[in-house]
Amino acid sequence: MLSTMQDAPLLVSGIMRHGQQVYGDSQVITITGPAGEYLEASFTEVAERAERLAAALERLGVGDSDRVGTFLWNNQTHLEAYLGIPGMGAVLHTLNLRLFPEQLAFVINHAEDKVIIVDGSLIPLLARVRDQLGTVKHIVVVGDGDPSALGETLSYEELLGAEEPGYDWPTFDERQAAAMCYTSGTTGNPKGVVYSHRSTYLHTMAITSGSSLGINELDRVLSIVPMFHANAWGTPYGAFLTGADLIMPQMFLQAEPLVATIARHRPTLSAGVPTIWSDLLRYAQTHEVDLSSLRLITAGGAAVPRTLIERFQDELGIEMVQGWGMTETSPLCSLALPPRGTPPEEEMNWRAKTGRVVPGVEIRVVGEDGTVLPNDGESVGEFEARGPWIAGSYYNDPTPERFHDGWLRTGDIGSLDRRGYMQISDRTKDVIKSGGEWISSVELENEVMAHPGVVEAAVIAVPDERWSERPLVVVVLESDTTLNADELLEFLTGRVSRWWLPERWVFIQEIPKTSVGKFDKKVLRSQHADGVFEVVEVEIKTGR
Ligand code: ADP
Repeated sequence: MLSTMQDAPLLVSGIMRHGQQVYGDSQVITITGPAGEYLEASFTEVAERAERLAAALERLGVGDSDRVGTFLWNNQTHLEAYLGIPGMGAVLHTLNLRLFPEQLAFVINHAEDKVIIVDGSLIPLLARVRDQLGTVKHIVVVGDGDPSALGETLSYEELLGAEEPGYDWPTFDERQAAAMCYTSGTTGNPKGVVYSHRSTYLHTMAITSGSSLGINELDRVLSIVPMFHANAWGTPYGAFLTGADLIMPQMFLQAEPLVATIARHRPTLSAGVPTIWSDLLRYAQTHEVDLSSLRLITAGGAAVPRTLIERFQDELGIEMVQGWGMTETSPLCSLALPPRGTPPEEEMNWRAKTGRVVPGVEIRVVGEDGTVLPNDGESVGEFEARGPWIAGSYYNDPTPERFHDGWLRTGDIGSLDRRGYMQISDRTKDVIKSGGEWISSVELENEVMAHPGVVEAAVIAVPDERWSERPLVVVVLESDTTLNADELLEFLTGRVSRWWLPERWVFIQEIPKTSVGKFDKKVLRSQHADGVFEVVEVEIKTGR
């Protein structure tokens, strides 16, 4: 028996229309200058510009399912593209501004982008690959900048200026592609993930739900995570659907301008990778700051050191929760909100976990032999994910080994407890297998970073004759400390199992980061293999 309910498709244009009609006065603020200059626009204005954009793209020949790449910062224009491109039935392809040229050319060609919208400040980056782009028919330039290096280009403002607002948004199958995003390709070429209108809509409902971020009209969302990194974790759509103001920092992402933006525009919510938050914390430790508007910040994309969450709470009074997700999962899968009944003094134990599975997503843990392990908080295996906003394949890239009976294999290792809390210990490609047992690089990093003299620490596996692999710790120290490996080892003693205690240490100025700001362990491994590091070897006195 079928239901008697209407079959209204879940479309991105529905998100836009709701924001436009119900929250027309909500604001989008774009930071435009280093001294805090900014531009303001209402949701009504943004939606009207999205309508003009759709009409202009149609006039350029963009049709159903054509890909339109965006090479843009987090700003109002990017939001217009987020709304207008999927709204008209085309596919928004957010391009990572920090890819190496060959990867950038690869993703544009692989996705067969027909149009690229580029920010004037980014012209030189796109120009490096312009002559390799076989499918691109038009390049649309936003704002200032000399576009001559790109050949023939069009002006975004002129295109929009030639159109009228009031585009008639089409209706189509909700399973049609709305947007695509490539993984950052830590191994091999990047892989394309294609989000549908349905998956985008449902993911938007999930991040606005009270069981996760609870984004609503009382919020002001500071969108730090780039709009090309798993679509800014869904925050632009979440804000537009619920009338939360959006604050867009563009390229002003260093601690100093961010702190000024927070003090001036008073966001209540924000999301970012741990490195952004630790920079901000370090700045706040030596400067007068006002971050009191923030009710909740989320950190994810990489393991979040517990000490970072504690210091935000203790030193700044800000609640930080950890979340977990992937480009393949839209990305929200889990958020470490404490369970009900948690006494305040125990909250940290929960918030520091990797995350609690959000409604709509299923997670399971699978052992090396393919059997599903119990959710007992102890059994360790690979996480697999399933749900309406989880990828079921990659775009034009058959990789059956990444899927298992209809579940996505995440490549992340850890345990799941009976209440849905996940704890990651490693990525499959980062695990350290020492004497037949796993050492968790995530946990070891956490413990090293708990030392107040340590700014950053990354742990990689290195070959070892006796144990097959051992951990090597790469550390960045605070500038005013003279800590050495022996002292750090002493600090670790008692905090981790004795046989985990690392005998190899490297001290450097900065840990290399990936294009989305995570520790780049691939680079660390190759630097170590090339003998770039001066490794300090310490003796572990008692046997393991
Ligand atoms: P890439 O795979 O290129 O890094 P993604 O941003 O899609 O791009 O990365 C997803 C991965 O990030 C996850 O598979 C996981 O390894 C890692 N990750 C995300 N959130 C967390 C977290 N809270 N703790 C540990 N790892 C995380």
